[in-house]
Amino acid sequence: MSETTERSMHFIEQIIDEDLKSGKHQTIVTRFPPEPNGYLHIGHAKSICLNFGLAKQFGGKTNLRFDDTNPVKEDVSYVNSILADVKWLGFEWDSEPLYTSDYFETLYGFAVKLIKKGLAYVDDQSAEVIATQKGTPTEPGVNSPYRDRSIEENLELFSQMREGKFAEGSRILRAKIDMGHSNMHMRDPFLYRIKFATHHRTGDAWCIYPMYDFAHGQSDSLEEITHSLCTLEFEVHRPLYNWLIEHLEIYPSRQIEFARLNLNYTIMSKRKLLKLVEDNVVDGWDDPRMPTISGLRRRGYTPESIVNFCDRVGIAKRNNVIDVSLLEFSVREHLNKIAPRVMGVLHPVKLVINNYPEGKTEMLPTINNPEDESMGSREIPFGREIWIEESDFMKESPGKKYFRLAPGTTVRLKSAYIVTCTGFEENEKGEVTTVFCDYFENSKSGSDVSGIKSKGVIHWVECENAVDGEVRLYDRLFNDEAPDGQKDKDFMEFLNPDSLQVLTHCKLEPSLANATVGQGFQFQRLGYFSVDSKLSTPGKPVFNRTVTLKDGWKKG
Ligand code: ATP
Ligand code: MG
Repeated sequence: MSETTERSMHFIEQIIDEDLKSGKHQTIVTRFPPEPNGYLHIGHAKSICLNFGLAKQFGGKTNLRFDDTNPVKEDVSYVNSILADVKWLGFEWDSEPLYTSDYFETLYGFAVKLIKKGLAYVDDQSAEVIATQKGTPTEPGVNSPYRDRSIEENLELFSQMREGKFAEGSRILRAKIDMGHSNMHMRDPFLYRIKFATHHRTGDAWCIYPMYDFAHGQSDSLEEITHSLCTLEFEVHRPLYNWLIEHLEIYPSRQIEFARLNLNYTIMSKRKLLKLVEDNVVDGWDDPRMPTISGLRRRGYTPESIVNFCDRVGIAKRNNVIDVSLLEFSVREHLNKIAPRVMGVLHPVKLVINNYPEGKTEMLPTINNPEDESMGSREIPFGREIWIEESDFMKESPGKKYFRLAPGTTVRLKSAYIVTCTGFEENEKGEVTTVFCDYFENSKSGSDVSGIKSKGVIHWVECENAVDGEVRLYDRLFNDEAPDGQKDKDFMEFLNPDSLQVLTHCKLEPSLANATVGQGFQFQRLGYFSVDSKLSTPGKPVFNRTVTLKDGWKKG
């Protein structure tokens, strides 16, 4: 229980704590039940952290179960991405991944049991007709004309459904509960439908598939899940969840609902994320702008930062919207601790030091991370010609509060010398092509005896040894706070046309030639960056900006 000592227990922890103390359970079993119809996103991360986190905290176990009951939209490629993402987040499922499809035969048996108890029937009406009989929340529904079929006839028809004797949509198995029930989900809900589709695991073995409500709780029960945690939308399904368990007389898993994670400026519907992929608005599910786990990973997020974020968001009983800047804060906070500081110039302009010997290169020591001494230091080359950032020079100083370069001003080159600008060259378009400076030999960082004061410090990269690289800067994918929450507008209308900026002529310090995927760097003054896993080629790294150094994003 050490992890909860710093904060009070949230309501699910309290329930589990009581269940263990009272002896209701000796140990707990949770599950994470993704449907393999898309990639996992940051909302799923919350569910993963909760389910696996609780099992870790209370010494239980967590099953990873694919809720694969809808063959039309599911695919094995999604299964693989989900496995990889859960692992990457740092969680381990109990033994092997599980699949609802492995229970199809058992679930079929459950349906037969209900029919035999007179609690399920085959309806010959179409889903559309049945919908007209459902009633409204304030008016009861109408009984189906097929509701009182004999058990024998129902058994025969259900078996024929399985054998493929009926067309898709022509018959459906329903629970026989109460068409006047105040909860619409209890008005003879669907249990099995006919679907002639090839399943990614069971192939063509089945042409009937269980509905979510009939598969989910029963799978929980088969696995003896003690606490089945799901999002608030399922609260209204809970009476049905319990009814099925009760009448099937199977292990009583308990469903508990919590508030889903909603983030502003972000969409989290898999259907909508799929549309972005299919329309090539993004470069796949793992595009660094996507709120998917794989997108965040490619962008340079660390698993720790995502887990910390989920922890900060907490577990609530009411839906709310979290500011996406909290997610950005979490990765910034973690990278600040672990990322080596390096130098890279995104918009390079050449700076020539008039009084520095030609052909000379010296290696200057520089500290890797001021937040962590144990990360040591490295040496970077310095010479007569260096690249500086275009925006660090102005043709004319705008005034006293300007601490960068302009003719006559003095700055320190980070980890190197103090220089004073003596002039510049420009092309016919008025673009600065070269900046000239004098340096002070006795002003070297660490052994500065020059007595010269310079308020500004700028980053640079020595020309001869610079590595050419590409850098990708990202902005939010949507420019509206609630892109999928507008009544008359499609979320696609809120796409930010400037969400990706590709800079192809960047100059990076030599150590970055060997940067490996998954390692984060702080490019001094520019933000945190990491190597793109797909676009980098040997000798020409492509870096993604994970996040800026500060939250520089203004509303409106
Ligand atoms: P679908 O619309 O396809 O059902 P889904 O987001 O519910 O999408 P699932 O694969 O069914 O996807 O979700 C797996 C688990 O993750 C479920 O238990 C679900 O409740 C949980 N989950 C999904 N989205 C969120 C979210 N935004 N916050 C917290 N948990 C979530
Ligand atoms: Mg779902």
